[in-house]
Amino acid sequence: MSNPLPVVVGLGANLGPRRRTLQSAVTELRALSVPAAPFRISSLFETEPVGPAQPMFLNAAVLLSVALEPLDLLDRLQAIEHRHGRVRDVHWGPRTLDLDVLWIDGVAVDHARLRVPHPELPHRAFALLPLLEVRPDALTPEGQPLEAIAAFLSPGGITRVEGPEWGMTASEL
Ligand code: ATP
Ligand code: CA
Ligand code: CA
Repeated sequence: MSNPLPVVVGLGANLGPRRRTLQSAVTELRALSVPAAPFRISSLFETEPVGPAQPMFLNAAVLLSVALEPLDLLDRLQAIEHRHGRVRDVHWGPRTLDLDVLWIDGVAVDHARLRVPHPELPHRAFALLPLLEVRPDALTPEGQPLEAIAAFLSPGGITRVEGPEWGMTASEL
């Protein structure tokens, strides 16, 4: 991916200092993003966990632009997770930080390590609603508006707890 492309990364945390971890992850995503390209932060949502019983999640999404191949982007995101104490054990289990590639503009990936758009998007309000906040006009690689899918999400299990200022620096507020 030589030309920068807009991507949306989903952020989640349900262990440790969740809000502070997500703020720190935003700082690292800023550093990954091409300078002067749009960088947008969604509201912060508290959401019911999927999978085994575990604490509530904080979730959000960030729009950035990267000049990286998708698998290189995944490597960078996993390095950020690792720096925030992410341990990979239980699938869908509790974690200090989860960074998922939700969407890349015009790009579909079906690889053993990476599927884009994220296949669970149509079933997860905690991923799709923040994504649509930062990129309301996002299309699937086939050209369908993602917003049309949101109408089919089951309501509940998600509460907006703060506007996008949770992730902004002092100079942006
Ligand atoms: P889910 O993908 O259902 O949200 P999860 O986030 O709990 O589950 P992880 O344990 O964080 O899953 O990641 C398992 C693997 O998923 C990663 O090692 C990565 O290779 C793969 N993966 C596939 N598609 C994606 C994607 N779009 N974003 C991030 N990881 C992905
Ligand atoms: Ca995930
Ligand atoms: Ca993940």
